[in-house]
This record gives sequence, structure tokens and C-alpha cells, in this order.
Amino acid sequence: MNEINKLEMNTDYMYDELKTKNLQLQELASKDYLTNMYNHRTFFFYYEQLIRNSAISQHPFSIVMFDIDNFKRINDNYGHITGDMILRELSSLILANIREDDIAARYGGEEFAIIFPNTTPENGELICENIRNAIEKNIFKMEDQIINVTVSGGIAGVAFSNPNCKNNKFLEFVDQLLYKAKAQGKNQIHSDHQIIVIEN
Ligand code: GH3
Ligand code: MG
Ligand code: MG
Repeated sequence: MNEINKLEMNTDYMYDELKTKNLQLQELASKDYLTNMYNHRTFFFYYEQLIRNSAISQHPFSIVMFDIDNFKRINDNYGHITGDMILRELSSLILANIREDDIAARYGGEEFAIIFPNTTPENGELICENIRNAIEKNIFKMEDQIINVTVSGGIAGVAFSNPNCKNNKFLEFVDQLLYKAKAQGKNQIHSDHQIIVIEN
């Protein structure tokens, strides 16, 4: 084999390596290390992408915000490391209950947001109810202790007419629904079935 062929093979190999490493880096940068869910920044990347796509397709989408109930107490009673293990196990329950196209993110410390593309809030609520139920029924066993864990959630649907809109009012609205679920006793989903229309 002549020198030029060897060099070409080397360059091809290095190019493939670089591509693989880039994909691995992208995956690392987009995810939360503890839960393997998308991180806050990636959530907004997909949210804005979906605003653009849905404004063009005219298909509404839904978003849920989940928050673990009394998580401070769990940390206080069992320690932060156990708290982290619960976060990890609970995240895998969420991921096991969503569809391939749904986008689940760790929105904050013990808060999760899921985007349900092309989904009405009624249908999204069914998935959320499955998640809530799976978490309530799951046996979180840490050493020889069984810890009861529940979540509350707020879900609503939205249709945007401006593809360039970067609207956070909708997320505030979803957060208010979550707040209502907390105020009404926790371990429940509060939803608004009417699709919110955002014009600008
Ligand atoms: P509520 O039912 O109203 O949501 O009560 P809460 O106790 O869950 O809410 P609060 O906001 O008072 O506490 C949230 C707790 O979540 C406090 C914080 O230490 C804990 N937390 C946030 N991020 C992490 C984390 O990465 N690991 C662990 N172990 N705990 C975390
Ligand atoms: Mg919280
Ligand atoms: Mg909480």
C-alpha cells in the first residue's frame, strides 16, 4: 500500500473517531448526569423547536411539570445519598412510562418537565396519571427501609401561532396547575383541558 493510501485510511479513521466522540459529547452535554434525563437547557431547546414546528403544523402539544412531594423530609430522614438514589429510580419510572417522541427533562432539583408533542392535555394526563400511579406503587427500598414516594403534577396544552415565539407564560401557567395539585393535598395531577392559544 502506498503512503497516500495509508494517509487516507488514517484520516478516515480519525474522522469517524471524531464523529463518535462528538456524538458522545453532545449526549453528555444535553443530559443530567444523575437521572439521565435531558437537562434544563436541552428542555428549552426542544420547547422552542416544538413551538416552531407546532405553529407550522397547527398541532397543539402538552407539557407536564412534576414535583416530588415532601422531598426535603425524605432527605432529612434518610440522607442526601438516599435522596439521590430515589431521584434516579423515579426518573427511570418516568422514562419507562413515556413514548419515544416525548421529551423528559430534569427541570430543577426535584422537578421534572415532560413535553408531549402532538398530544392533547387529556391524553397527556392519562400518561401522567400512569406515571403518578407507578411512582406511588413502586417500592423504593433503600437498604432495609421502604420509603413512600409520591409526586404532584400540573399539565396543560398549548397552540402557538407564531413560530418565533419564546413564550414562558405558558410554563408559568403549568407551574400554577402544579401548585394547585400541591395545595389540594399532593399525590395528584391537576390539569386544564382547554388548549391555550398563544398568538405572539
Ligand atoms: P413539596 O411537597 O411542597 O414539593 O415539598 P418539598 O419538600 O419537596 O419541597 P422543597 O422545595 O421544600 O424541597 C425540595 C428539596 O429537594 C430540597 C432539596 O434539598 C432537595 N433536592 C433538590 N435537588 C436535590 C438533589 O439533587 N438531590 C437530593 N438528594 N435532594 C435534592
Ligand atoms: Mg420543588
Ligand atoms: Mg417537592
